[in-house]
Amino acid sequence: MESKIAELKEYLEKNKISQNFEDVLNECLEKLPEDPFGFFANAFGRYAHKPVIEKLVARQILDSRGNPTVEVDVYAKVNGQVKLIARSSAPSGASTGSNEALELRDGDKGVYGGKGVLTACKNVNEILSPQLKGKELFDQNVLDELMCKIDGTELKTKIGGNAITATSFALAEAAAILNDEPLFLHVAKNFYGKDKIPKKFALPVPMVNILNGGKHAGGKLKIQEFMIVPSRNVPFKERLRRVVAVYHTLGGLVVKKYGVSAKNLGDEGGFAPLIDTPDEALNIIEEAITTAGFKVGEDIGLALDSASSEFYDSEKKLYEITEGKFLTSEELVDYYVELVKNHPGIMSIEDGLDEKDYAGWINMTQKLGDKIMIVQDDITTSNPRLIKQGIEEKWANALLLKINQIGTMKEGYEAVRLIHGNNGSVVVSHRSGETTNSVISDLVVGIGAGYIKTGAPARGERTAKYNRLLQIEEYLEEHGML
Ligand SMILES: [Mg+2]
Repeated sequence: MESKIAELKEYLEKNKISQNFEDVLNECLEKLPEDPFGFFANAFGRYAHKPVIEKLVARQILDSRGNPTVEVDVYAKVNGQVKLIARSSAPSGASTGSNEALELRDGDKGVYGGKGVLTACKNVNEILSPQLKGKELFDQNVLDELMCKIDGTELKTKIGGNAITATSFALAEAAAILNDEPLFLHVAKNFYGKDKIPKKFALPVPMVNILNGGKHAGGKLKIQEFMIVPSRNVPFKERLRRVVAVYHTLGGLVVKKYGVSAKNLGDEGGFAPLIDTPDEALNIIEEAITTAGFKVGEDIGLALDSASSEFYDSEKKLYEITEGKFLTSEELVDYYVELVKNHPGIMSIEDGLDEKDYAGWINMTQKLGDKIMIVQDDITTSNPRLIKQGIEEKWANALLLKINQIGTMKEGYEAVRLIHGNNGSVVVSHRSGETTNSVISDLVVGIGAGYIKTGAPARGERTAKYNRLLQIEEYLEEHGML
């Protein structure tokens, strides 16, 4: 009996229970809150242990194209209890650069055409989860670094890039929730450093895919995406309103010109009419902009994503820019120069050349780099090592950032620091296969990137990102942070 009393005494003293209890009780009596026990619950929280990861649970879910992808749940021990805190998932690309982190697919052709991700999920459950158990959640960089170490390969071939990206996203979501702060602030803390986050944030300019060719469509048009880009000088909600107005106007125009089936949507929600040439595509978009009441280039600019590796013949070294029309690298750059001359609204061209056509990239940046954004996607695949090389050799002046190309958020931050440090622009991007998570919206604001590319303002997995940006804009306004 005596030893029990001594044990309890020691426990009370060690945990300063009487003293802390007294402090909280005094606080309560001072404030006389309407809900005293709610007040206690919150007040005692400050003495509780910091939340730690208990386990990760991964499962196979479907992305917006009906293909399997990895979803990860984060369970944490909070106030002595194990709770599901957050979940997130990995996106998946159609045109993938050869230096991308590996999307680990099961390869069993009889199941989801070989695209199952059960092995990737197993790697989260059986390898990542036990090694992350007990770790604190708030330093994303430490957790991401640990995952990179566990995998041990640059392209995440052991655990799978899809497994690691989904986990990185889910850990970020969980940390933000446990810290009771919006995700973009958690991102900013990890990107800038905890005490160096800016007082003001900005919303990005959306580069909105409204007309599709290439792999996303199926017609003769080889260039993959035609985008509209509203000017930065209006609030985000007005930027969005303008592009939606043009999107709907374009929908009406393509039906009138190409019949009702032209209103079919590509993978990212853009229209996919049977158009033959880039000129034809740009003309109808310009008509839509004007008809909707805006000035091309002034209110709304134009942008292309050629995804040119998809129409490059690496043996013949020729680009099939439109069906049957083959151009050398130099001719293609001249073609772009001409296109920009004829359509001065063009402010950006992404992946204008093949991912290995380095001389072509340098040539294009020399000829167009002072007029428009030359955006590197497949050539650098968000990989800091390649980005460094690109900066030295002047491949481009802007970067497309897709976290799942490299694996973790931390590596994405490194990529952005390199580009921003060199006065380049950053476009945070979705993939053609998406889920309804909106991590990239918080990411783009948190790191201060100028642009976001997240498809047409249609289809749930795309609008989820735009809608999240509207919420962030409202938050920033309310908190005087805009
Ligand atoms: Mg691209």
